Amino acid sequence: MTWIFSRALLAVAAIALGGLVGYLDSELIPVGWVASLVSVSAAVALMILVDGFRARRLIHWLHGDQEDSPPNEFGLWGELGYRIERAVRDRDRTIQQERNELLQMLTAIEASPNGVLMLDAEDHIRWCNRVAGDHFSLNPERDRQQRITNLVRYPAFVSYLQAGQFAAPLILTNTRGKATLSVVVSPYGNGMKLVLSVDVTESERAEGMRRDFVANVSHEIRTPLTVLSGFIETMGSLPLTESERRRVLVLMGQQTQRMQTLVSDLLTLAQLEGSPRPASDRWVKLDGLLARVLSDGLALSAGRHQLEVFTQTHLEVAAVETELYSAIANLVTNAVRYTPEGGQIQLSWRRTADGGGEVCVADTGVGIAREHLPRLTERFYRVDGSRSRDTGGTGLGLSIVKHVIHRHGGELLIQSEPGKGSKFRLTLPAMRLRELEEPPHAPAAPAIEHIGT
Ligand code: ADP
Repeated sequence: MTWIFSRALLAVAAIALGGLVGYLDSELIPVGWVASLVSVSAAVALMILVDGFRARRLIHWLHGDQEDSPPNEFGLWGELGYRIERAVRDRDRTIQQERNELLQMLTAIEASPNGVLMLDAEDHIRWCNRVAGDHFSLNPERDRQQRITNLVRYPAFVSYLQAGQFAAPLILTNTRGKATLSVVVSPYGNGMKLVLSVDVTESERAEGMRRDFVANVSHEIRTPLTVLSGFIETMGSLPLTESERRRVLVLMGQQTQRMQTLVSDLLTLAQLEGSPRPASDRWVKLDGLLARVLSDGLALSAGRHQLEVFTQTHLEVAAVETELYSAIANLVTNAVRYTPEGGQIQLSWRRTADGGGEVCVADTGVGIAREHLPRLTERFYRVDGSRSRDTGGTGLGLSIVKHVIHRHGGELLIQSEPGKGSKFRLTLPAMRLRELEEPPHAPAAPAIEHIGT
């Protein structure tokens, strides 16, 4: 408020000046009121002149970028300059703060794994992040202010945007890189639109697999159930002889067994998927395990095949015994089931160059055409469905084998040629193998045993 005093002082000076001019005027101008008018006008003109000069300096400063301080004035104009400078500095600080916040927000949106796109009322791109650029093949810098419908080439997206019905998200399939996108549009402000795009390729694939799985399981269970209910109906409505009754019961038993095997395989798969990787300090004797697999294979083959087996490995494997047994047994069982009578089956073991090892089950059976090989380990995938079912297969065996061996850090490798036979190899990493500490009771040879026909 000091400017009031300086103003008052200026007014006093003006009055004094006016008085002085008035006194001098009265000497020159005889008419009193004219002299007074001249003196008052001179004082006012002087004040206006001084104010105008100081105001001009302040306005000149305001016209600039206000980087430097306002003109160093006293009184009213000094106070005004100081107040304006403070307001300008406050405004600059607020703008800077808001700019920083906006930058932070955009950086956060930029880092989002989802695509974010802002459109104005005419569908011009106001801003988009890198992910949205990738999803819709846009350049976030270059394509700004362009109409999105001119740039995005997916007709479904363009018509979705133009229809303006955004209640349900749009699922865009086969976009760039064969991805599936879920696109959600939220209108906001004055006709603006926020477009969010999420890559749902994986979840769509998983959902598809889940649907297929449920359909497959239902189908696999429905077939024996239909057969069973037919038999039950027959037994209830027809008078059967004792031998017929026994035959029906055998068939019913087979169907029940089929369902039991299926449920047991499903449980095994679920267990494998849900449990942690096997510990690497639980050691299983490989020779004992291979011997058990062999004896089961022999029982299944019932002398119809020639089985060759390497029995002496003198190794221990860090594994879950039941899992490793079921994996190798599955391969031997398949070899028996898919090799015609008189064929050869070989169960062998070898150390690999990297210190690991490999169990190999080879047969001279029906073989598998090349196009089926990549899909063999899919659940319920069968090359020959009727042969698989007739021999008690569930279509889950190789899927279980793959899971087991992956959990043990190994791989399942398949080679096959139709009409010539197949070779299934299970590799095991070096860290899961060690030499048996106790010396072998019997001499190592013979390494190969021939069993069977
Ligand atoms: P399944 O219970 O049908 O045998 P698997 O998962 O064990 O199911 O095998 C998948 C498919 O792979 C089988 O249906 C069969 O067509 C083929 N297959 C598996 N092992 C052999 C083999 N040793 N020789 C020929 N085909 C095989």
